[in-house]
Parts: sequence; structure tokens; C-alpha cells
Amino acid sequence: MRIENYVIIIMLIFIIYIILFVPLNFSEEKSNMLIVPVKAHIVVSEDFSSKRSPEEVRKIFDDANKIWMKAGINFRIDEITYSYATENSVNDVLANKETQFRKNLDFLKDYNPDKLNVYFVRNPSVNGIAYFEERIALISDNVPYSHRTVAHELGHLLGLNHVNDPNRLMYEFSGNEEITAEEIAIVRNNAGNF
Ligand SMILES: [Zn+2]
Repeated sequence: MRIENYVIIIMLIFIIYIILFVPLNFSEEKSNMLIVPVKAHIVVSEDFSSKRSPEEVRKIFDDANKIWMKAGINFRIDEITYSYATENSVNDVLANKETQFRKNLDFLKDYNPDKLNVYFVRNPSVNGIAYFEERIALISDNVPYSHRTVAHELGHLLGLNHVNDPNRLMYEFSGNEEITAEEIAIVRNNAGNF
């Protein structure tokens, strides 16, 4: 056989290899990324109306997702609604009065139990709070740009607790954004429930 024929055969093998395996690798990468559906609520209330716009909410989530990318998790906002809440219901959530809050249908009427529900609210007392079982988090407007707060509360919503290390995302106060392999295993396990 002439040398040109060998070259053609090798090129054909190479092209067949690319056709067969490159798309497979791509789809494998995609399937490793877990998508967690989110309903975002901009609270409308006598005293607690959020000043966030839907565009700001999306931008904050885009940046929170950059923190979570290393865990192979993407929080996808499926819908953003303006959700009415009574002052009492917001106070109950903030005061950690879980029993009252669970019964409070004013606050929960726009709630979607199949998604994580993140409520943006203007309030003076906390930066954020999350309820794992209810799949509900509140994010305060008080933090000027709250992507770390959102990322932190999303961590709670996927089963993470606080840690003592200020380098870590799950540090209770202002801190850094590190996520450990153990935390990634927990959140990926819980993210698989959606
Ligand atoms: Zn926390």
C-alpha cells in the first residue's frame, strides 16, 4: 500500500474516534451538573417590601452559581414572582418561630413545594435565614450585594450546617467561599432529589 493510503486510514480512524467519543464525553459532563429548580419571590408587604428587581435577583443568582459551580450544581430560577406577605408572617419567619410560620398561609400561598423558594425581603434583623425541610430561605436587602448570602442559604437548603472556619462558605458570619469535598457530597446527594 502506498504511504498516502496509510495516512488516509489513520485520518479516518482519528475522525471516527472523534465522532464516537467526543460527544459522549460532552454528555457525561452535562449529566454531572445537577440542576436545582428555584422559585424566587420578591416580597410585597406593608413594612418589608423588597427593593430588588427581577434583573438584580437573576444577577445575584448568576454570581451565587459561580460559587456552586465547583460542586457541579446549578441553581436555576424557573420563575420570579412578587409574593404578598403579611408583616406578622415575615416577623414569624425572622423570629425563627417555625411552628407559627409553617401554619402561616399568607406567606406560603405562592410557595412551590417542588422547588427551593427564595424570598427577597427588606428587613433590619438578619442577612438571611433558611429552613431545610420547608425548602424556604429569606434574603435581606440589607446586604448591598448578597450573592454570598444567597449561596450560603442555598447551602443550608441542600442540607449544610454552619462551620467555624471563616474561609468557608458555611461560616455563619461574613467569610469566604470555600466548599469542602464532604459538603459537596452532601449537597449533591440532596440536589439529586429534584
Ligand atoms: Zn447560615
